[in-house]
Amino acid sequence: MHEMSLAMNIVDLAITNAKKEHAKCINHIEVEIGTMSGVMIDALRFGFEAAAKNTFAEGAELVINEVAAKARCRKCDAIQPVTAYFEECPICNEFLTDIIQGKDMRVLSVTIDE
Ligand SMILES: [Zn+2]
Repeated sequence: MHEMSLAMNIVDLAITNAKKEHAKCINHIEVEIGTMSGVMIDALRFGFEAAAKNTFAEGAELVINEVAAKARCRKCDAIQPVTAYFEECPICNEFLTDIIQGKDMRVLSVTIDE
């Protein structure tokens, strides 16, 4: 499962950061997920719980911020919200949109108790 490996990466990253800061525990981990990243939020939460279990990150809260996907038209430069890879530009009707936001997932911050 894609989300399981993402969750394991998040847990690893959080633990590495927390240890560097000599944390007592991890309070929460904030992540950003694009609406077109293909990440299923429920599956990620489930994966996170499983990945964090019996680790230093157990009990940490996973805070998820969803980022709406946007695309820029290569012909007219209009920026529009999108829900699919091939969407027609509403301004010039070309199918030349580049997704500029909302395609990936990243960890924003790891909050710890020192
Ligand atoms: Zn256009």
